[in-house]
Formats: sequence, structure tokens, C-alpha cells
Amino acid sequence: MKKQLMITLLVGLCAFSSLNLNAVTIQDGVSLELATFRSANITDVSYSLSFTVPDQLAKPVSFHETLTFVWAGDEDLQIDFQGRPDQLDNVITVNGHELATDLRHEHIIIPHVSLSPGKNQVTISGRSGDKALNRHEDYLYTLFVPDHARSAFPCFDQPDLKARFSLSLALPDGWVSISNDTQKPIPTYLFSFTAGRFQLQTAMRDGRNITALYRETDSLKVAQLPIVFDQVALSLRWMEEYTGIPYPFEKYDFVVLPGYQFGGMEHPGCIQFTDWEIFLGPHPTPDEEMTRLNLIAHETSHMWFGDLVTMRWFNDVWTKEVFANFMADKISREQFPDVNHDLAFIKAHYPLSMNTDRTRGTHPIQQPLDNLNKAGLLYGNIIYHKAPIMMRKLEQEKGAEALQQGLRSYLTRYAYGNATWDDLIAELDKFAPEHSAQSFSNVWVKQKGLPTITIDGTDTRDGSLEIRQHDSYGRSLVWKQGFDVSFANENGISKSTAVYMETAQTYVEGINGMTPILNSNGEGYGHFVIDPRTRPFLAEGWRTMPDDMTRYAAVLNLYENYHLSTITANTLVEILLNYLSHEKNELVASTTASCLGNLTPRLEALQRATAERRMFDMMQSHSLQSVRQTLLRQLSLKATTPDVVDSLYGVWQDHRSTLLNNRDYMRMAYHLAIMLPERWQEILGTERTYLKTDDERKEFDFISRACNPDEMVQQQLFNDLLKVENRRVEPWARTMLALLNDPTREPLSNRYLVPGLDILEEIQRTGDIFFPGYWLSSLLEGHSSEGARQAVSGWIEAHPMLPAALMNKLLENAYWLLDRKD
Ligand SMILES: [Zn+2]
Repeated sequence: MKKQLMITLLVGLCAFSSLNLNAVTIQDGVSLELATFRSANITDVSYSLSFTVPDQLAKPVSFHETLTFVWAGDEDLQIDFQGRPDQLDNVITVNGHELATDLRHEHIIIPHVSLSPGKNQVTISGRSGDKALNRHEDYLYTLFVPDHARSAFPCFDQPDLKARFSLSLALPDGWVSISNDTQKPIPTYLFSFTAGRFQLQTAMRDGRNITALYRETDSLKVAQLPIVFDQVALSLRWMEEYTGIPYPFEKYDFVVLPGYQFGGMEHPGCIQFTDWEIFLGPHPTPDEEMTRLNLIAHETSHMWFGDLVTMRWFNDVWTKEVFANFMADKISREQFPDVNHDLAFIKAHYPLSMNTDRTRGTHPIQQPLDNLNKAGLLYGNIIYHKAPIMMRKLEQEKGAEALQQGLRSYLTRYAYGNATWDDLIAELDKFAPEHSAQSFSNVWVKQKGLPTITIDGTDTRDGSLEIRQHDSYGRSLVWKQGFDVSFANENGISKSTAVYMETAQTYVEGINGMTPILNSNGEGYGHFVIDPRTRPFLAEGWRTMPDDMTRYAAVLNLYENYHLSTITANTLVEILLNYLSHEKNELVASTTASCLGNLTPRLEALQRATAERRMFDMMQSHSLQSVRQTLLRQLSLKATTPDVVDSLYGVWQDHRSTLLNNRDYMRMAYHLAIMLPERWQEILGTERTYLKTDDERKEFDFISRACNPDEMVQQQLFNDLLKVENRRVEPWARTMLALLNDPTREPLSNRYLVPGLDILEEIQRTGDIFFPGYWLSSLLEGHSSEGARQAVSGWIEAHPMLPAALMNKLLENAYWLLDRKD
């Protein structure tokens, strides 16, 4: 009875508070308006949380929470909770008084009269949504970035309200757990716990205990853990030295997870890693080894960049990513001294950045964000790959020492707090101010796109050549940067000149009778148009150039010129095949092989048959294992020429190739089952016998259904993917979607395009941050028909109001379909 009375009273209060004219709008998500209001009025936040995890998946996880904070506002307060009203108990407690729970537009509303100036305490109980809990039968892990904590418990889900967390977990028998309940303040997106049936291993490195949780059962893989511990320790030492700041959190533990959505996530004290990047197969390539260190170093760098100093709002999410990548690249240099790191850097970032930057879907590194529920759309190649290129060029502009001093000053000044990119720029320009980070940032960070760079075809009268930058969006921007121009004849390169472009034009001295080659060291970022005089040399002469970087740059420049339509796919495939047979450098060769993998599906059937056969033969004969491996992987996913498919079937039947790991064989089986529909059941049945773990078998049983040649079954599977519960394990869902849209299934698969695009906004709402991009690439990549082109461009025309960031993702992923009509 008492509670009933309270509810009646509260209805009156709510009606009153809605008259408050200054009130922050109550709307879904976490708006910038709400976040700005709260960070101005709330301090000293702490969460005391307990979760009860039932032993059955069907039953919800329940929570009990005590939230305390210091309040300076005079309005109603919104606490974020994304869920149904029936997930919350009917009553909450505010400063000891019971109130009826009032959930509106994903916020629990606390009337201002219930709050006091100064310290307040709110207790709330209820059931967590499963969205960010990643629940499996015998384990779960939380992943709250960017704004999913509010689906698990009520909170202030914004990065600049850092809080202290204490956590207790009631778990099924036999489960273990780790979390980051910490005395250091962290934002909600970094709070995390993992619990379940895991193996546990602890190691001591540099006087620090590091614990790993994992589910891997293959002893050869588990035996790689000491390497991981070493690399964690190395990364920590390196970061402490570079920043001058000791590791800022109490402990460093990590979890290795199967079917994980990302490469890793930097929750301090309980970092998460995806299993296949940590536990490598029996014959890892040098690339895979370096990718692993890079991942570990990336997440470790985040302990300083992102966790110690956090962006104020998610529009600056890229600042933490750019420094994690920048540091990871530096750390890799120490660990792999024999590798050509300048080349490795260019290989890691330039092609991926260009993949987005050359499309109509590109955007500036820094993008506006009005609501955190759209934060996921900011992530992509521009943040992960263009930003590191920008950073390296900024380091060249300012000098390495001035940059390091600026970063130390920034980390110290904003420790355990928040800062914007502009705060950082201001800190950097305290050192070497004559090289302004701000004017550099105004082009590279705040504007989209890349320059087109040409060299004047004729020598000017005084013998110098004119190099010109052109902004294809007509804004006359100049991207300050340096690169080499070399001069070659049939005997090779005789001279290289370093050019630093500070204005739209610059001049280099020409050499009579020699061919000028733009961007011969590959450092330049943009479209370097191949001069007609340079073409014969690039087609033939550069094969013999001794410098690895020069040959790599030639591959990239040629590939970019295919995208500029100055060279055809057919000509380029011919050049690259001839070239690849002679290449001895792993990094150059594997990129060449990847370019071939992208280009061969663009060829006419006859040319494609010849190219695939040559690739298969080279796969058997090339002297470099990594080339044989890349070629076999490419072919095993994409080859369509009947005799090549037959040869691949032989490789698969044998199942003993050291070039492929279990996962490669799984994917190969999917492709062969689609290419050889009369044998699909035999192929999948046999492949299943090779799988080693239950997790692998579950994944395989889910995905392999898409190989069924029955068109009704395919349609049903696609319809299932439209329901959120069937996309719960996102890597499985996107692999299945890609198989349903396999190129060989056109035009039938065109029927998925419109419904697949129609749920794009729902995909963005319900999925993890990378999922909209993955969904689009899986849906669109297999299509090249006129019917598909019309369906997709018709859909784009019919949806002019699609949020800009989502439209960009679509245009980026539709590039091959809409913008490459060769
Ligand atoms: Zn990161």
C-alpha cells in the first residue's frame, strides 16, 4: 500500500517537472546535449554492482546497483538504461526514499526534487539485456564500447564521466572470472568482466603478475602463451619509457576469446583478444607473427592513450586509435629488427586507407557526432589506417623529439581525465611551434580526401620538372608531405631526390634522357598519376630494382592507377603475374599476390581462366612460402575456373598442405561446396571430421548451411539473418551472408540486396560497432551484375535521409559495384 501511494505522488511530480523549460530533451541514446549537461553537473561517480548469472542461457542476468555521485544541477536527472520497462524493478531508491521507476526513451528519470545538492545515492535492481553480455552456454564476456553499458545496467554512459567500480558476481558452479573493478577512475565503456569455464595461466614478467584466461584446448597453441606474456611485458616497458609514466593501472590480465568481434579491446586490467590472432597455426607467416605483436602492443598502448587519458566525446575516438597504432608500430620495430619496418608500415596502412579514401564514402578523420548511439559508424579504415599515416607525417613535420615531449605533457596534464584532439594539438604546439600542428591538422584531420599528384610531362626550359598537387574536391587544399622522385633508364635508377611539398607546386631538376618516377619510396599519400613516359619502365624495368621499398611503391602506384582508370585490370594482372614470379621479398610479394586476388575477379572469363591457372601453378612453384600461401588462400576463396577448382579440390582432399591452417580449410570447404554443388554434402561432411573443438564445430554447423544448393533453403537462411537473434555471433552471421551472396549465385542472390539494405539502420542499432560495415561488405562484395547495380543505386536514391555516416559506409562498400564498371 505504501508503494502504491508513492506511485500516485510521483505521477504528479512528473507532470510538474515536464514544465521545466530548461530541461534536457528526453530522447533515445546519449545525446551530446545530455552528456554536456551531465558532465557540467555531476562529479565523483562510483558504481557498486552485483550481477547474478544463471546457469541457463534462457534466464536473464540480474543486477543490483548502488550509484553514488555529487550533483550540482537543478533539473530532473536522466540515468541511461536501454531496455524494456519490465527489465527494471518497479521501485528504485533515491537517497533512501523509494520512488516508482520511470523509464522513458532509454532513461530512468529522477525528479529534481528527489536529489540534493552534493552527494546522492541511487539504488536500482533489474535484469540486464543480453546485447553486450556475449552470453554462451558456459561463458560470457561484456563488451560495452561505445555505449552498450547502459544495456546491462543503468549508468551515465559517456566517456567524460569517469567512475570507480566495485563488482561482485554470483556465477554457476565451476566458473571463473576476471574484471577491472578498479580504484582508478575509468569510463563505462572500459568497464568489463569475463566469466565462465576457462583455463587459467599466470606468469611473472618484470615483477608483475599477468594472468591469462583462455578456452583453447590445442596444446600447441596454448604453448604460445609465454610469447604473449613476453610481448605484453615488452610493450609495457616500451610505453613506460616513451611516456615517462609508469603503468597507470593496478594489474594487467587478459582473456583470449573464440568468435570475438574485434582483434582486441583495451579494458584496463582485463584486456580481451580474439583467439586466432593470438594462437597461431603451426606454420605462421612472418605477417601473422607481426600482426600478433602489433595487436598486443596496440591494446597495451591504449592503457595510456584512451584509458589514462580518454577522449571527451566519441567524435575523438580516433585519437586513442591513432596513438595505439603509432606506438604499436614503434614497438614492432624493436621486436622484429630484421624486418623493413618502413615498408611494413606502408603495407599495413596505405592500401587499407586508400580502399576507403578513394571512394565516395570517405570522410575526414574527425567527424561530428550528435548521439552516442551512432558512435559505431565513426570507426573504419580512415580512423585505423589514415590516422596513423597522418600521425607519421605529423611526426616528420614536428620532429620526433618535439612530438614525444608534447605527448608526455599531454598525458601528464590530463591523467585520469579527458581531453579533445584540439587540447592535444595545443599541447603539441608548445614544442617546435614553428612547425604548426594546428595548420597541419586543419587539412589532414579536419578535411576528407587525398591529393592527386602529377608530374609535368615536359621539362620546363631550365630543365626542371613541375610536381603539382590537385584537390579533387575543388577546395585547393595542400596536404603537406614528403616523398622521393627518382630517375631511371634501362640500367636502373641513377638518382633520387627527396621532395617536401608545402605548397601546391614544387620543382625538381630533371635529368636528360632519364624517366622521372613519382613517389618512388612509397611514402607519399595520394593518387600519383603515372606519367606516359614512366609506364614502360614500371611495366618492365622496375622488376630489377634492388630496393624493396621502390618495388613495393611501384606495385601500390600501379594498383592506384588501375583505380584511376589509367591502366586496365587485364594489363595490370599481366604485369603483376610476370613480376611476382621473380619477387623474393615477402612483404612486396604478398601484397602483389593480394592485388592479383582483387583483380582477377574483374577479368573476362577467358583472361580470368589464364590468370587463375598461372596463380595456381605459381602457388606450387614459387620459392617463397608466404607467396605460395597467399596465392592458395586467395584461390581457395575465389577461384571459379573449372580446372583450377578441380585442382583445389585435390589440395583440399589431401588436407595436408602446410600452407593452410584449420580455419583456411574450413573456408576452402565452404567455397568448394558452393563451386561443386553435386558434392556439397560430401565436402562438408568430410571437413567436419577435421574440426578439433566444440566451438569450431558449432561455428561450422551454423555457417556451412549456406552452402546448400537448394534455393529455398538459401532464401530461408537469409530471412533468418534478418532477425537479430540469428546475428548474435556476428562473425558467423557475416560469413553466412557473404556465402549467400557468393559471386556464382548472381543473379539469384540479387533478391537479398534490397531487404539487406532495408535493415541497415536496425543492424546499426542492434550490432557491434564494426558490424554495419561488415554486413555491407558481405552483402555487396559478391555482386557485379547490372541488376545488382540498379537495385543498390535505386535504394540509395530512395533513401536520401539515411544518416550521413551510414550512407558513407554504404558508398564505401558499394565502390566496386557502383564505381568500377570495367
Ligand atoms: Zn584500439
